[in-house]
Amino acid sequence: MTRPAPADPIAAVATAPGRGGIGVVRVSGPELLPLVEAVTGLRPAPRRACHARFIDGEGRVIDSGLVLHFPAPHSYTGEDVVEFQGHGGPVVLRLVLARCLDLGARLAQPGEFTRRAFLNGKLDLAQAEAVADLIDASTASAARSAVRSLQGEFSREIHALAEGLTQLRALVEATLDFPDEDIDFLRAADAAGRLAALRTRLARVRARAGQGRLLQAGLQVVLAGPPNVGKSSLLNRLAGDDLALVTPVAGTTRDALRSSIQVEGIPLHIIDTAGLRETDDEVERLGIARAWKEIERADLVLVLRDASTPAGGDEEVLARLPTGVPRITVRNKIDLSGEPPGRREADGGVILSLSARSGAGVDLLHDELLAVAGGQPAEDVFIARERHVRALAAAADHCEAAAACLAAPRPALELFAEDLRLAHKALGEITGETSPDDLLGVIFGRFCIGK
Ligand code: GDP
Repeated sequence: MTRPAPADPIAAVATAPGRGGIGVVRVSGPELLPLVEAVTGLRPAPRRACHARFIDGEGRVIDSGLVLHFPAPHSYTGEDVVEFQGHGGPVVLRLVLARCLDLGARLAQPGEFTRRAFLNGKLDLAQAEAVADLIDASTASAARSAVRSLQGEFSREIHALAEGLTQLRALVEATLDFPDEDIDFLRAADAAGRLAALRTRLARVRARAGQGRLLQAGLQVVLAGPPNVGKSSLLNRLAGDDLALVTPVAGTTRDALRSSIQVEGIPLHIIDTAGLRETDDEVERLGIARAWKEIERADLVLVLRDASTPAGGDEEVLARLPTGVPRITVRNKIDLSGEPPGRREADGGVILSLSARSGAGVDLLHDELLAVAGGQPAEDVFIARERHVRALAAAADHCEAAAACLAAPRPALELFAEDLRLAHKALGEITGETSPDDLLGVIFGRFCIGK
């Protein structure tokens, strides 16, 4: 896939907003040496840090720092890239940026540098997404898997699968021209065996990507239970050393009902139903309605009970919680009731006895959360998004249909070929080989400016 590279130079402050030791203004475009020379009076050697003064249009010094020139194509975007590394104050960075804009650059849109890197073949789409996921990673495991995807591990797996499909497709296309010998030919080439091997590999990639999606997006957990059963205590206990990560996100009523913690590197987004009370406040009511919408999408329901008293009291809420979602009932405060920590299954759900205060039995809940999250936190996970997981599922469905087609007594080879083509197309969407432009707009629009 070749596309013409966008030609106009773009510029943005690449470092985070606010004050900092160093701030970077980044420019990308064709032929940036004149711009560098206008700003610094220098023609820096490629990829060498040069000390320079940054000068405005009237010859006044704006700042001094380092200038770096990465001539095309050996740069992040594949175009000429220049970095002005100065002092990290918002005003001084704005002045440097304004100078670049005066010299003909325009302000970059969010993700535009990475979009150019993609269009110029520096990164494929899965890698470009991994850039954003690395920046947004909320846990160390998520960061590690994003780097793995960024370095191309995920893409290499996808390419290997695509290559397998290409070979199979070539075989089938060859036989379509010789209809009399088609089936024998495919049998001799062991098309069925190859397809089976491909499906096994695809299943492994799906499992890894499924885990990766979870690391990126986390599990949506609904926490239900009447006041004082120990919901906050349990959250704090689960968060353990990451107590600081218990973040009731302030701002709106809806956010006040949510907090995020991480368990074994998996982000858990917790919606506390204690906040879902009847209210006359219109704003609060809207927030609660939204919280219910999120609850419908929950991956897990945690119901807390006080093991030391028989009281319930939240049946109304419980009755509205989604069915068909894994449900764990936690009997808390066993240090008061005297029952031992333990796990049992009843009514299709799991019941755990533990104490948030003493910590007894909390490891059982850890294990249970990991099981819901799909097993152990694997070291070889690559970050993946819902989009990738869906494309892999589509590819798997088409491969399954292809296998069924081939297993028929008189296989319809046109259909077999079509199923393989569709599987191939689904994989191509992951790396961006068959992604429509509007999808690219959505993906890159979510980046921060300057990336
Ligand atoms: P929430 O209203 O459900 O969030 O409950 P809290 O976490 O605020 O706990 C209510 C009270 O129960 C607090 O005084 C906690 O210290 C206490 N508590 C929570 N968990 C336990 C437990 O496992 N054992 C005992 N003895 N007390 C607990």
